[in-house]
Amino acid sequence: MILYFKTIYKVSAALLSGMWVTFKWMFRPSMTLQYPHEKAVTPERFRGTLVFDKDTCTACNLCVKACPTACISLEPYVDPATNKRLAKINWYQIDFGKCNYCRLCEEACPTKPVKSVRHSHGYEWTMTDRKEMHVKWVR
Ligand code: SF4
Ligand code: SF4
Repeated sequence: MILYFKTIYKVSAALLSGMWVTFKWMFRPSMTLQYPHEKAVTPERFRGTLVFDKDTCTACNLCVKACPTACISLEPYVDPATNKRLAKINWYQIDFGKCNYCRLCEEACPTKPVKSVRHSHGYEWTMTDRKEMHVKWVR
């Protein structure tokens, strides 16, 4: 008998606490956006699609080493006349199929004042094919 009333008490308490949350939110302004007519304002440190600046990249490889999913690859530019590796890239590639948007590459990148690889605020990029996830920048 005691167990019966205990169960009723527990269920009622759970129901009321759930209804209390609903009640509190009933009087707050709506957060629904009429996408695509309305767009979300993203926070300052939002991790959107990665962008890359091939002109400032020094091919230092730090982003490649920092990336936990090994989705960045690059080839440094080698001067054909001297056969010396220059602080420039030949090509740079990100496999967005593996990227988890962790920002470790951006934090490792030493270029100043703007990082050569960095997150943008873009969140509307869609891909329909696995091949489109490999994005390559060529010098
Ligand atoms: S955001 Fe993370 S997973 Fe994506 S490329 Fe940068 S380090 Fe790699
Ligand atoms: S993007 Fe930055 S960290 Fe990566 S190779 Fe270029 S300069 Fe180095």
